[in-house]
Amino acid sequence: MAEHDCIFCKIVEGKIPSNKVYEDEELLAFHDIAPWAPVHFLIVPKRHIPSMAQLGPEDAGLMGRIMTLAPRLALAQGCGAYPEGGFRVVVNTGQEGGQEVHHLHVHVMGGPRPWLKG
Ligand code: 5GP
Ligand code: ZN
Repeated sequence: MAEHDCIFCKIVEGKIPSNKVYEDEELLAFHDIAPWAPVHFLIVPKRHIPSMAQLGPEDAGLMGRIMTLAPRLALAQGCGAYPEGGFRVVVNTGQEGGQEVHHLHVHVMGGPRPWLKG
């Protein structure tokens, strides 16, 4: 059930289409609709958690899975390998944290940035 008319719950339920990167029983990753980097996807828990502010000790495993999945998916999506390649992970939290969609999501951003070379 989508809570609070949540757009990411609707994506998880397949009611809104997304360009999927990865899926398992508790996580979904999909490309951001308005990318800030050559590679930009989001990893979300399928369960509706509004933000990092609601996490408790019982969520350590879930967050650990997201953080260890991020580098694997980043490589598969075209981010270069460490140390020359790489990516950024951002979790906006709350209004002052710049969060716009209130379903916990981890931004993974990377890919070639030619303007950084030379
Ligand atoms: P926030 O500011 O909450 O951390 O970021 C929300 C992100 O979700 C933004 O980067 C925005 O582009 C992305 N987004 C918002 N609506 C949709 C959507 O319907 N589909 C996809 N794939 N991304 C979305
Ligand atoms: Zn949700």
